[in-house]
Amino acid sequence: MAELYIHGEWLDPELGGTREIRCPADGTPVAVVSEGSDADSVKAIAAARRAFDDGPWPRTPERDRGVLVAKVADLLLRDRAEYARAEALDTGKRLVEAEYDIDDVIACFRYFAGIAGSDAGRVIDTGLTTTISRVVHEPVGVCAMITPWNYPLLQTSWKVAPALVAGNTFVLKPSELTPSTSILLMRTLEEAGLPAGVANLVLGTGASVGAALTSHPDVDLVSFTGGLHTGRRIMAAAAPTVKKIALELGGKNPNIVFADADFLAAIDMALTAVFLNSGQVCSAGARLIVQDELHDRFVEELVRRAKLIRLGGPFDPDAETGPLISAAHLAKVTAAVEAGVAEGAVLRCGGSRATDGVLADGFFFAPTVLDECDTKMRVVQDESFGPVLTVERFTNEADAARIANDSIYGLAGAVWTQDAGKAQRVAAKLRMGTVWINDYHPYVPQAEWGGFKQSGVGRELGHAGLGEYRETKHIWQNIDPEPQGWFSG
Ligand code: NAD
Repeated sequence: MAELYIHGEWLDPELGGTREIRCPADGTPVAVVSEGSDADSVKAIAAARRAFDDGPWPRTPERDRGVLVAKVADLLLRDRAEYARAEALDTGKRLVEAEYDIDDVIACFRYFAGIAGSDAGRVIDTGLTTTISRVVHEPVGVCAMITPWNYPLLQTSWKVAPALVAGNTFVLKPSELTPSTSILLMRTLEEAGLPAGVANLVLGTGASVGAALTSHPDVDLVSFTGGLHTGRRIMAAAAPTVKKIALELGGKNPNIVFADADFLAAIDMALTAVFLNSGQVCSAGARLIVQDELHDRFVEELVRRAKLIRLGGPFDPDAETGPLISAAHLAKVTAAVEAGVAEGAVLRCGGSRATDGVLADGFFFAPTVLDECDTKMRVVQDESFGPVLTVERFTNEADAARIANDSIYGLAGAVWTQDAGKAQRVAAKLRMGTVWINDYHPYVPQAEWGGFKQSGVGRELGHAGLGEYRETKHIWQNIDPEPQGWFSG
């Protein structure tokens, strides 16, 4: 126990709380961890504030900060197996997927280490001999980082790596459901030699630990990844002290398939788009929008293959995808499907909890296809965040983009066609932060990631990633001040 990490020390929570973590695949106990409260958040914020105001980290040259972040990547690679196992047990996802996630985490730390010091600011030649004009970057300050449970360490890394390179200090609050890899990360940062107080970890719920982090006046920036409704609450909590804010929120993402698409590739990736990680992916292609003349053949084959998907726990070598994260989430996904059917959607497969054999002990949900949907339905508009695909039809190019854009979200989407011009035209019309053409889900750390519309505020990854965590300042210095004589009096 004592898993709160504050000012370089492992502490018990002020109120002595604990939480039991169980694997969602079979309910086996994973760990009992500390559960903090708002009092612990306040303590951690004070540590991060001190480390920012008086500590060495913000004043360390960016290149040297990058060297430490590169060392973190090396240590993560050394401990890859331990990290992946911890992630798989907390989330219930397949071990092999957890391993991919840790590889992405390592790539993220390496990427930001690599760009450290590459954008040092600039000097402006004013043409005057009596001034120096410089534009410099500085860290923002104390960052609160709040992360979800679907890709726990990856979402955390997208915040921690750029924030560290830019010279900030931070308090991290991971999802209360998946704390294990955050605890491991603090150990890794400690081993890499990060000064005390730069990285702080408080475990606990959003209502207690999270709310304190998003409203405290000593926090300069809140970086949040999670659901839309929580994002709105966080924006409101951060408003009175006008914090910098970065929100990576949900999505209800369209996967548009034209009749001239490569049939087999489009089918295959339509399954991956929505059923990867049992649909618990912010960019999941949960809305299939298929051209009328292809609809029947496409949906028939999709349903046939969806029924064959094998569910199982992290260490089941035959499993293709895993459980939902919790009983509460299972109930939410079940209710969304039932409401969809009540609205007129046609259930083509799945639709309920999967309980065959060993699955009975976990929160598994059968891959589900709801056909004959339209944009007026709640099941099309709301994020279910489960293995639930809705199918809509379209007639022509203009129709496809209009239907796809009919959403409050704008995170990601895809277009499938063998007509390159049509693909680019539709991609240009989609109001989404990421558009894939004849593909689904790939991301690269060099590119920016973030949502249009209500899917988010700000961007993560790429140069924009460091940008969130830096202030850019123009420094004008008169090095030979003299009276200007503007006012004769
Ligand atoms: P969530 O909003 O329920 O919780 C996310 C985090 O916020 C958790 O750590 C939670 O404890 C905390 N939290 C909850 N209430 C809070 C409050 N009032 N103040 C401060 N913190 C609070 O989301 P979730 O269920 O953990 O994750 C799923 C959601 O995350 C989905 O909507 C998904 O689309 C989204 N997501 C988005 C991205 C992206 O890149 N845009 C990536 C992954 C997940």
